[in-house]
Order: sequence, then C-alpha cells, then structure tokens
Amino acid sequence: MTTVLVTNESRAKEYIDEVFSQLKQKNSHQPEFLQAAEEILFSLAPVFAQHPEYIEHNILARIVEPDRIVSFRVAWQDDNNQVQVNRGYRVQFNNVIGPYKGGLRYHPTVNESIMKFLAFEQIFKNALTGQPIGGGKGGSDFNPKGKSDAEIMRFCQAFMTELYRHIGPDVDVPAGDIGVGAREVGFLWGQYKRIRGSYEAGVLTGKKPGYGGSLGRKEATGYGLIYFVAEMLREKNESFLNKTVVVSGSGNVAIYAIEKAQAYGAKVVACSDSAGYIYDSEGIDLAVVKEIKELKGDRIKTYLNYRPNAEYHEGCTGIWNIPCDIALPCATQNEINGDAARTLIANGTKFVAEGANMPSDLEAINEYLANDIYFGPGKAANAGGVAVSALEMAQNSGRNYWSFNKVDEKLQDIMKDIYTESKEAAEKYGTPGNLVVGSNIAGFVKVANGMVAEGVY
Ligand code: NDP
Repeated sequence: MTTVLVTNESRAKEYIDEVFSQLKQKNSHQPEFLQAAEEILFSLAPVFAQHPEYIEHNILARIVEPDRIVSFRVAWQDDNNQVQVNRGYRVQFNNVIGPYKGGLRYHPTVNESIMKFLAFEQIFKNALTGQPIGGGKGGSDFNPKGKSDAEIMRFCQAFMTELYRHIGPDVDVPAGDIGVGAREVGFLWGQYKRIRGSYEAGVLTGKKPGYGGSLGRKEATGYGLIYFVAEMLREKNESFLNKTVVVSGSGNVAIYAIEKAQAYGAKVVACSDSAGYIYDSEGIDLAVVKEIKELKGDRIKTYLNYRPNAEYHEGCTGIWNIPCDIALPCATQNEINGDAARTLIANGTKFVAEGANMPSDLEAINEYLANDIYFGPGKAANAGGVAVSALEMAQNSGRNYWSFNKVDEKLQDIMKDIYTESKEAAEKYGTPGNLVVGSNIAGFVKVANGMVAEGVY
C-alpha cells in the first residue's frame, strides 16, 4: 500500500513537472501567467497522487490551455476628434461549471499574459464559490485616467461593438475590474442592448441597481474579504476587535474592506493609490477616502487636506513597513515581494489576506507559510465579488430583485463555505492550515470532475 502511494506521488510530481515545463516553453513571454500557473500546479501533487484518473484524462495539460482567446482592435475618437487605437481581449478559459465569468480590466499594463493569469485564477475562484460559473477575463490596454466621460463612453461602445459577438447570458458574462466600475458597465450594457435589440440583462454584471444590478455587488468583494478573514481569526480564537489593519489601494475592494473591518471594531491605519500611501495613526476616516476616490476621482494624497495630522508617502511599497496585525493587499498584482513579506513578519503581522488578485509573489507566499502567518489567498478571500455577480445573474434570470440583507446573508454563507472547504481540503490532502493548497485543490477538484464527466473534446 505504502509503495503504491509513493509510486503515485512520484508519478504525480513527474506529471506536473512535464506539464509545467511544456507550459513554460509555450508561454515563455508570459511571466504573470506562468507565475499563477506555477502556484496552482505544484500545489496539486497530492490530488494527482490520490486520483490517477486525472492523469489518465490529462486534465492538467487541458486545464492550462484556454478554450479560446479573442484579441481585437478598438478604434475610438477622442474629444479632439483624433482616432485612437487600443487592443481589446477576452480570454474564455474554462466553461465546465457554467458560462465564462470574469471582469474586464482597463489599464495600460494589460496584455495577454495578465489576461491569462487572471482568467486562469478565475476558474478555480469561481468553482470555489459553489455558483454555476466558469472562468474568463478580459479588458484593454486603454488608460481611463484623465479621459472625459464622453471619451470613456465612446471607448466602451467601441469595445462592445466587437465584444458583443463573443458573449451572452449563457455564453460569457463579463463584469468590472480595475478601471471598470458601474459607469463603464452601464456604457457597455447600453451598447450591447442596442446591438442585440433585446434585453438580456444577464450578459453583464456589476450593473447599477435599478437596471438589473444587484444590491450589495458594490460592497461584495471588500465585505466578502472581511467575512473570510473573520473566519481565519475565529480559527485562532481572535477577532477584528482592536486589531491594527493596513489596506493597500483605495478603489472598490479597498474601500469596502475598510468599511467592514471598521464595523467589526478594527483600526485601519493606512491605504494607498498608485502614487503613494497615507498613514493615519488615529484610524482612516473612510468618509474622506470615499469623497476623494468615489466622488472626486482625486489622488489619495489630498487626504491631508482633510486630516492634516496624517502622513503621506510617495510610492506604494512602503505601506508594508507599517506595523499591523492584519495586512490586506487590495490594489494590484505583485505588490508584496519577499522583502515586504519579511518586513511584515518582523513587525509581528499574524494574518495576511488578499483582496487583490495575486498581490503576493511566490517568494512572499513562501515566507508567510514558513513563518506562521495565517494566509488567505485571493482566489478564496476575494471571491465575494464574483459570488454576488452570480447572484446578480440569478436575479436577472428570475427577473426579480433581492434586498441588500438577503444578498449580504448569502455572501456571508458563501464566504464561510469557501473558508471551510479550503481548510478541509488542506487537511484532507496533508497540509493542514495551508489555505493556498486547500483553495487550489477544492476549486480544482470540482472542475476536474466536470472535465472527466464531459469526456475529451
Ligand atoms: P479599482 O480600479 O477600483 O482600484 C484599484 C486601486 O489600486 C486604486 O486605488 C489604484 O490606484 C490602486 N492601484 C492600481 N495599480 C496600482 C499599482 N501598480 N500600485 C499600487 N496601487 C495601485 O480596482 P478594484 O478595487 O476593483 O480592484 C483591485 C484588485 O482587486 C485588483 O487586483 C482586482 O483584480 C481585484 N479584484 C477586484 C474585484 C472587484 O469586485 N472589483 C473582485 C476580485 C478581485 P489609482 O487610483 O491611483 O489607480
């Protein structure tokens, strides 16, 4: 029996090595995608050891190759009547569990590697939510900063004029991400409706309540993160009460994470934007952050105009030097490297949970795991947004609206379930307390079983 297990283990490792080395060869120019794939693939060894049928079906080689990638030209006119050209993408990675589902990102750094890393992570995150949604992602290298409302509208219309033919309520359901909020989703939705000539509300999520949007979607990722961390804290007989928290970013995820953490009695002392971070030893005044970011679309450094005793520091990485009990990276990928992780550890941080997608690089994650930091990976911890997007799709299909409380209660249940499933999978596969392995495995097994059942295609 022991010999069989050892054989299975070594065969599993060999298989993963083989698939990853082919993946590296084919995608050597896509570092973000390889980083995301490496993190997931190597955590799956115990699953392949126990389920050789997944090797027989070559699930891994199939799951790392997207069903399709669409890339397209987006030509639009700026306010000076100049024609501008950007590149649009939609990566439809896997639809075994449901229609492709994942946000659209507008940011100058967007490229195929970033789209693929986000879409790949989304497969497992969406599976973890227990909702019927597959994995996808899209966006453009368009930079919305400094653009007028009319320019944003024209860009969104031009983007949808191509994208519409690839999506649909039962095919692929985009939503927002960095640079795409309710305003952009509104413009995208208007254009889709115009082209299709029918009211297919479930084609996009993140719409405003009142025309198909769900109450609670705006808050969902940030609140969901805090519900997830509350479970992590409970595990260690702790709570948010009087904990010092550092949150990076000051966008949609960060703002609602701060709101719920404060409601649970935490003191949030810092947040940031892409130019720098603020430190307020008395605790962040969230009404001020909302006014700056949600109402005025201004820089976070203007916080000092309202709270002159606070500090502003240029640059983003210094935020991790601030001593805290709980660190919540909620801005962007790779914002915590090995050095930043070591600083957090030296300062006594005990919990890190990711509101953003892949904000910790692999070295940082290894530091957390080796130094007794209880770590909630983004795939699990920030799944609240897409979970409520799935609830928005359910409301659209049923042509009804649920109350904020109903949505919020469902979100709390979903986040608890994700935590429990991830924790139990980690225990079952021999790495108790490792939520990276647990969440990867819990999500993967659901998709792999679906792929086995579907047969090869
Ligand atoms: P927003 O566009 O609303 O906010 C992003 C925030 O991060 C802004 O404060 C932005 O600053 C800051 N930021 C962007 N780039 C950098 C950088 N290079 N360094 C430091 N700060 C930066 O996006 P969201 O809040 O929606 O998304 C944040 C993260 O959460 C992303 O990783 C996203 O993929 C992930 N996520 C979002 C979900 C959602 O529902 N919105 C769901 C799950 C994950 P500035 O204002 O200067 O641009």
